Amino acid sequence: MDYKISVQELENTPTKTANINFEEKIDGINCAEPITADLEVTSLGDFVEVKGRVKGKVKLECDLCLKEFDYDLDFDIDEMFAKNSLMENYSQETEIKEGQFVEDLQGNDEIDIYDLLYQSVILNLPNKKVCGINCNGDKFQKEENLTDPRMDVFKNIQIQPKDK
Ligand SMILES: [Zn+2]
Repeated sequence: MDYKISVQELENTPTKTANINFEEKIDGINCAEPITADLEVTSLGDFVEVKGRVKGKVKLECDLCLKEFDYDLDFDIDEMFAKNSLMENYSQETEIKEGQFVEDLQGNDEIDIYDLLYQSVILNLPNKKVCGINCNGDKFQKEENLTDPRMDVFKNIQIQPKDK
């Protein structure tokens, strides 16, 4: 199935809005279940906004014990695309406010929802992948915490015995 949105066609609809119900495994991501997304694509003059909720289950490898585990995805996306190269002097992706990026379509008529979802899933994976609280590898994590420089303060605390 094709998940490309034509900006021109979007402009020609009375509401300037398109709804996409995505349900598919995404190439390049180890999906345990298809990724689902209910997205609303709206033309806002110079920009196109893609908003919605993404859910799914992916297989990740635990950083500590290297076992594969299922990770539930559930996040919102809110992406802006600039139709024309408004921002010639900036890089292709510009942050307009904290956490919100505008991607420049650079005259391209198409927004590739499949690619957008791929990027969003990758960005929403945890930095530290741990299979669970009972992970066999958790001793490594504890050792790591002890070498955290912020923990040094505790090593220097000495309890003074009270003189009688
Ligand atoms: Zn583990």
